[in-house]
Amino acid sequence: QFPFGRRLPCDIYWHGVSFHDNNIFSGQVNKFPGMMETVRKITLSRAMRTMQDLFPAEYDFYPRSWILPEELPLFVTQVRVMKDSNPSWKPTFIVKPDGGCQGDGIYLIKDPSDVRLTGSIQSRPAVVQEYICEPLLVDKLKFDIRLYVLLKSLEPLEIYIAKDGLSRFCTEPYQEPTLKNLHQVFMHLTNYSLNIHSGNFIHSASVNTGSKRTFSSILCRLSSRGADVKKLWSDIISLVIKTIIALTPELKVYYQSDIPAGKPGPTCFQILGFDILLMKNLKPMLLEVNANPSMRIEHEQELSPGVFENVPSPVDEEVKVAVIRDTLRLVDPQKNKRKDAHLAFTTAKSAVIHSPVLQAGMKDKQHKHHSLKLSLKLKFYLKLGSCRSSEQAPGAGEELPDAAPSPEAALPSLCLKQVFPKYARHFSHLRLVDRVAALFIRFLGVRGTTKLGPTGFRTFIRNCQLSNSNFSMAAVDILYIDITRRWNSMSIDHKESGMCLQAFVEAFFCLAQKKYKTLQLHEQVKSLVELCECRLAALHGKRLLWGCG
Ligand code: ADP
Repeated sequence: QFPFGRRLPCDIYWHGVSFHDNNIFSGQVNKFPGMMETVRKITLSRAMRTMQDLFPAEYDFYPRSWILPEELPLFVTQVRVMKDSNPSWKPTFIVKPDGGCQGDGIYLIKDPSDVRLTGSIQSRPAVVQEYICEPLLVDKLKFDIRLYVLLKSLEPLEIYIAKDGLSRFCTEPYQEPTLKNLHQVFMHLTNYSLNIHSGNFIHSASVNTGSKRTFSSILCRLSSRGADVKKLWSDIISLVIKTIIALTPELKVYYQSDIPAGKPGPTCFQILGFDILLMKNLKPMLLEVNANPSMRIEHEQELSPGVFENVPSPVDEEVKVAVIRDTLRLVDPQKNKRKDAHLAFTTAKSAVIHSPVLQAGMKDKQHKHHSLKLSLKLKFYLKLGSCRSSEQAPGAGEELPDAAPSPEAALPSLCLKQVFPKYARHFSHLRLVDRVAALFIRFLGVRGTTKLGPTGFRTFIRNCQLSNSNFSMAAVDILYIDITRRWNSMSIDHKESGMCLQAFVEAFFCLAQKKYKTLQLHEQVKSLVELCECRLAALHGKRLLWGCG
């Protein structure tokens, strides 16, 4: 910690809230620029909608959502149409204020006319979403899952998922929503911060009972009931990868603006908290993504009225310590340097690494603290190891440090499992908006911006040869003005003028639909992306030739 500022650069910067620190030119930061903005309820819902428009079947894990207040008329009309076509449909909706957390300001409604547009917190911009009425219940209670995901790198995309997560339980037995029980938060909302105030909340010393349990304990239970747990995991992995694919275009725009390519800057990684609800049929549904998931491993306990004490929470500790430890292992800048050094060093030290005392300590779960401390100590020895290896490996008779040189050998196996690029080939077709974002970034021009000016948009149209007798440059300007004005009127960010990525995506879809009338939307967009990439490559080739000439 640097309470009075920092003078020397660091390998890893661990920020509490967001990326911003103008003083970092190397190393790795544990936050991506723009992540907080990208996972806000409204922005996430918009990104998911774009993907649902392109790939409806692949993105059916996010509830149908509308943005308030601007989409209220659309919400009212669409619900009316759906009710007319299916009179037995009796939906419930959940209204969630944008930027809210811990269940703040959330309420359930049965009819669009019940949306509260005036008042305090509840009149803020919000997302209204179809409420999942049939969640999977355990012990008659609704629960959700918090999974930790490490976005290790954006370009190339690298994603890891923690093997275990948390299950957070409601504290009142679940009933399907009716007008009578809609307001019962302990029945419908799984937030820990709300349920902790219920008299029924159970703090448990065990990881498989109480109001907060490990996800693995739920999986064990499901498996003993005959559920296909493997399929459930693979659905969850796919949900996580698809969600991140939906977020990457926006993140890349922020990234190039804060860390321009070619200039010295840090790289980034980030631990994200995915909140997932399992439906009765075991289908996982995404509720939200948290940019700053709580990493607390203690909870407050009221010893006597008004007197609180922080006590360790075994469930949180079990899951979260492993996530932080493995994140540090994966981003460890010394790792690669060490690999070579370690090869030379291991042979001489293998007797110590396999020391029964050390291994017994590692296997015993009660020794987690010990193993963390030990890993730090081991890092120190590792440095020693790498220094020595540059000279020569220690001889057999030489005195060796009393702990093993490789922290990897002594630590438990990684709890973070790589899922991307491991499963990349199943998802590469979904990375279409990423390619649209690459075109957008290319024409942004001045570094440091996130919005495209009218000249940039015109240059894009001209260089990709998209205007013709049916689509004049005057029509291009009108398209730019129309879409940009509408998006800017909805935006909360009025700092910069110009066309944001989402507006560009809308304009791009519009052009694609015009050009390739008979195809499906994702085919139209893919065709236009390919055409633009091809024309830009040809132009680039020509310029190189002219340059040579
Ligand atoms: P917050 O950021 O305020 O916690 P969430 O989106 O996580 O907002 O919602 C809070 C809780 O409401 C969730 O933990 C979940 O229990 C419940 N919830 C949210 N969305 C839905 C939904 N579409 N269907 C059913 N329950 C939901």
